[in-house]
Amino acid sequence: MSYRGRFAPSPTGPLHAGSLVAALASWLDAKAHHGVWLVRIEDVDQPRCSVDAAHHQLAQLAACGMHSEEPVVWQSQRSNLYQEALDRLKKLQAVYACQCSRAAIATAWLAQGIASERHKDRPYPGSCRGLSLPFRAGMSVRFKVDETAWAWHDRRLGDQTQNVAACVGDFVLWRRDGLWAYQLAVVVDDAAQAITHVVRGEDLADNTPRQCLLQQALGLPQPTYLHTPLVLAEDGAKLSKQNGAQAVEIGSPEQALAALQSAANVLQLQPSQAATCAQALAEWVMQWRDQWGTTA
Ligand code: GLU
Repeated sequence: MSYRGRFAPSPTGPLHAGSLVAALASWLDAKAHHGVWLVRIEDVDQPRCSVDAAHHQLAQLAACGMHSEEPVVWQSQRSNLYQEALDRLKKLQAVYACQCSRAAIATAWLAQGIASERHKDRPYPGSCRGLSLPFRAGMSVRFKVDETAWAWHDRRLGDQTQNVAACVGDFVLWRRDGLWAYQLAVVVDDAAQAITHVVRGEDLADNTPRQCLLQQALGLPQPTYLHTPLVLAEDGAKLSKQNGAQAVEIGSPEQALAALQSAANVLQLQPSQAATCAQALAEWVMQWRDQWGTTA
């Protein structure tokens, strides 16, 4: 098997310390396996994304010595692939149209005596599953979940299971606002790009079972997963733009190297004495191989 890995940022702003950890880990894992590393710009959520932010992210990666080894793929240009996959799922009767707004979902739960909690999405209660509504504008499309225990292995987190029906329920592939959902786009693209190994932040780990279910339904291979440690803000929350994550500074080569050193530290790699990003990366590839081995 030839290793193909990727870093798949959403261009909603510049890369910060947390995103650089995922970028570095995915790059090191690819190189430790003598594999290919790709960058995919995940800009399906067009209102939140910008072309300028994407170019800035690519410049940040380049300053740190990480370059996509094939032309960068932009999800906003791949609607036809997502549509094909959705059409296949429709034929398989694995999806259905849903008219529920967020408010309607909250009301459905309330009717069962369950109040919504802040920052916590309840699983979809299945209100539209049996209704055979027509697929039309203004409706979402949901994937039917019957799985009560999906098990998978993560190279860092170990054996994992999730009751997808209870935790998430039937999930959205096409959004009511006319946009593709992340779950479908990521699964279609990982397969289309023949990605063998997914290395990304731990905040995405709980998406993995949903993605595996889609891979299974579409008959696509399942990549190997490794979820990297998160960089936490001072309040212990995941670092994000909302709690003041600073953009990775690339004004000078020294700044880029310092940013990489911090990311390497999160990954428990030894500080490098190297003078350039390229030399430091080469050192860490060796350490990475010792730490995580190779799976190919
Ligand atoms: N685009 C996603 C993000 O920036 C990452 C998707 C993935 O690596 O699967 O959070």
